[in-house]
Amino acid sequence: MALGRDLPSEASPPSSIRPDYLSPSSVKSYLSCSLRFFFERVAQIRKPTTVALHVGKAIHATLQSFNLARWRGEDYSEDAMETAFSSHFLKLEKAEGPVDYADEETRQKVRSCAWNTVKAYMNSDEVASQMPLGVEVGLSATFSGLPVPVRGVIDLVQHDLTAVDYKSAAAKPDAGHAAFDHELQLVTYQMMIEEATGDTPPSLDLVYLVKTKTPQVIRVKIHPANEQRKRRIADLYRIAYEGITTEHFHPQPGMQCSWCQYMKECSGWCRQ
Ligand code: SF4
Repeated sequence: MALGRDLPSEASPPSSIRPDYLSPSSVKSYLSCSLRFFFERVAQIRKPTTVALHVGKAIHATLQSFNLARWRGEDYSEDAMETAFSSHFLKLEKAEGPVDYADEETRQKVRSCAWNTVKAYMNSDEVASQMPLGVEVGLSATFSGLPVPVRGVIDLVQHDLTAVDYKSAAAKPDAGHAAFDHELQLVTYQMMIEEATGDTPPSLDLVYLVKTKTPQVIRVKIHPANEQRKRRIADLYRIAYEGITTEHFHPQPGMQCSWCQYMKECSGWCRQ
């Protein structure tokens, strides 16, 4: 059974949960609330796609098209990217829909805001400053004491090996909070790059595309992890693996419940 982002999952009976690998997103999901993880990734109960998720994916896919076109020396003009954005927006609606839009007018407004955000990125200093070394770079790493590999896909790797992850956000991020919140993902990327190249990336960066009226592009730079930070992250993977394979799933009420789509299932939960 695979529990990673963008990689196929195979349904397995809950009595034999043995992931082939772990990804930063699966581990973060498990640690955030193990019962929501169960509903989403083990029982695979489908829910309507939220507007924020649909927009985030459409923006992400368009940035991927943009960076790939630059990397390959293909057309990355605004016209070409508007076509790519429209195509991603529609395809994602079909593939992952229904999307929770209140009505067509709201959908058009959201779509326009998302495209303006992509344009802000394409016209920003971010683009002029560097060419990508790799786009959507799939890597893996082995952690001592973890029986399965860790796999992930890095949005962009710069020529100096800086790992870049794109985030779309409704409001300007707080740099310290962003670094703390995404530590698991970014340090995993560092460890993957180190295993693949033998070198430590000089920085682990988050590039926020902020969907405000005038969209903003904000880069948050995070220092690469020392040995203690890396050990802490490896421990989180081991804890998640043990919890998943011993079927340790229970409600973990907190702030995340306010955007959880499994409240109904959660309310009916009791220990088997
Ligand atoms: S409602 Fe809260 S406790 Fe229940 S599954 Fe969702 S996140 Fe977990």
